[in-house]
Amino acid sequence: MGSRWQGGDPRVGYDESWYYATAKGLVQHPQLTESIDADVCIVGAGYTGLSAAIELAEQGFKVVVLESHRVGAGASGRNGGVLGMGQRKDQDELEAMLGLDVAKQMWQVACDANELVRDRIKRYEIDCDLTDGELHVAHRARYVDDLRRYNDHLAEHYGYTDRRHVSREEVRAMLGVDSFYGGALDFRSAHIHPLNLALGLARAAKTLGVQIFEQSAVLDYQNPATDQVLAKTAVGEVRAKYLVLACNGYLGKLDRQAGKYQMPINNFILATEPLDTTRAQQLNRDNVAVVDTRFVVNYFHNSPDHRLIFGGGENYSPFFPRDIKGFVRQHMLEVYPQLADVKIDYAWGGTLAITMRRMPSFGRSGANVYWAQGYSGHGIAMANMGGKLIAEAIAGQASRFDLFANIRHIPFPGGRWLRWPGLVAGMLYYSLLDKF
Ligand SMILES: Cc1cc2nc3c(=O)[nH]c(=O)nc-3n(C[C@H](O)[C@H](O)[C@H](O)COP(=O)(O)OP(=O)(O)OC[C@H]3O[C@@H](n4cnc5c(N)ncnc54)[C@H](O)[C@@H]3O)c2cc1C
Repeated sequence: MGSRWQGGDPRVGYDESWYYATAKGLVQHPQLTESIDADVCIVGAGYTGLSAAIELAEQGFKVVVLESHRVGAGASGRNGGVLGMGQRKDQDELEAMLGLDVAKQMWQVACDANELVRDRIKRYEIDCDLTDGELHVAHRARYVDDLRRYNDHLAEHYGYTDRRHVSREEVRAMLGVDSFYGGALDFRSAHIHPLNLALGLARAAKTLGVQIFEQSAVLDYQNPATDQVLAKTAVGEVRAKYLVLACNGYLGKLDRQAGKYQMPINNFILATEPLDTTRAQQLNRDNVAVVDTRFVVNYFHNSPDHRLIFGGGENYSPFFPRDIKGFVRQHMLEVYPQLADVKIDYAWGGTLAITMRRMPSFGRSGANVYWAQGYSGHGIAMANMGGKLIAEAIAGQASRFDLFANIRHIPFPGGRWLRWPGLVAGMLYYSLLDKF
């Protein structure tokens, strides 16, 4: 067992969240203890891995999923629950980076990704508290025009009209605080219970015949033949035609090629005690997902039992803070000073993977090992899509996978955590700017 405070270890903190306390259909899957064959072996039971498993099983592939700890033990079972629209990078930035044509294709994939999650929730009857609406709020006056210009840009160039400007007065009416200068409300974004989504996807995969093994960390893999991969756990192994690495921030040293393009960082969330209905409504009248414009974003919404679920604060070391409640609470009080008397019932951390360009990193090691990772904090929709695009590629339709695999990513120099002191210093510098 890793240290009690170690990030990047799926065993640490998974059962400390409000999500775990309210998980629906938490079942234990067996450990892999023998040698088995499959068409595709998937490493990691988060959204990427489970999504790939569902798509491949639907197409008739024999699929095995190997998970180090438990289904949803990684970021997929711990995140802020914001089912966003678009890519992590805004479209105008993507246009500058990759050209209008590619940017438009990526926008379409993002729309499809949002739809994919909604479809699966409906089709597999996943009870994960899907609640529509995301309010993006400007924590400085100078960002209000940026938000408004972006609404106009999406309407004009993408025909996207499900996003509108929200005045400072309206934000005040919606959130009961005067700390934001205005915002943008997106009706296609939403919030969800992330662990229940992961558990629901696992249930769907099982009904399609996917074998899921927990407590089955892949320690190493080899290519004994060009069309064969052998993935080894401590007490078992899977021989398959294809291997999918769906490990994201928990990849460790399993694949150096994939590891070069992502850096793990930790992010933290709390859940307050249940508030009375009136007080909860004062904090978030329409119970939309709220995300602010800080570099280290604050994000929050209410749970069905009227708790405030508040994410804020991150770190760039292998360790979680010892007092996560206190760490996140200070961010919560900056937004909602009136909650000083409220008890914090749960606090937890999770590890996600970022890339230098803040776009996901998709790739192949050789002809039959695929990965999708580095969603940079925007992975609920895009990790589901990442898994689907790997499945498409394995089934012979690689064009959408290659759209992302062709992004020229900049490798991170240095070790895995604190990869590059200059980079970490840069992130700390930008997070300091949030204060001004
Ligand atoms: C605190 C936090 C808040 C976030 N908030 C949001 C948000 O509001 N909206 C949003 O869109 N995104 C958010 N994200 C990001 C989002 O959660 C991730 O992008 C997404 O869950 C990635 O899914 P994944 O399946 O690729 O990775 P994960 O869910 O991390 O799954 C990887 C899995 O691989 C397993 N694994 C790793 N190595 C091995 C191995 N060797 N053998 C077997 N198994 C292995 C791990 O145990 C883990 O279960 C947040 C992330 C965090 C941590």
